[in-house]
Amino acid sequence: MFKAILYLLFAVVIISVLRAVIGIIFKGFSNLVSPPSTPQAKPSSASEVPLTGELKKDPACGTYISAATSLKEKVGGETFYFCSKQCRDKYVGSLAR
Ligand SMILES: [Zn+2]
Repeated sequence: MFKAILYLLFAVVIISVLRAVIGIIFKGFSNLVSPPSTPQAKPSSASEVPLTGELKKDPACGTYISAATSLKEKVGGETFYFCSKQCRDKYVGSLAR
């Protein structure tokens, strides 16, 4: 009888711990999928306004970065945008060959 109660208590503890862990994991996933500040307050009728300029594709790694915050490099009259110095060096190096 005592064993049964102990087992029940153990099960309750395990379930509560599992629920907490699952909750943390789920929260982390939802944060990954959508940013913490969900744009629910935004009026849906408003026209789309660019945030801080246009998005440019980093030709080295394929990441899209804002033109304002990216590293710019002019190669042969064409301006390229990079997310980091490493990407710029990698791409410019590959062009120079
Ligand atoms: Zn990059």
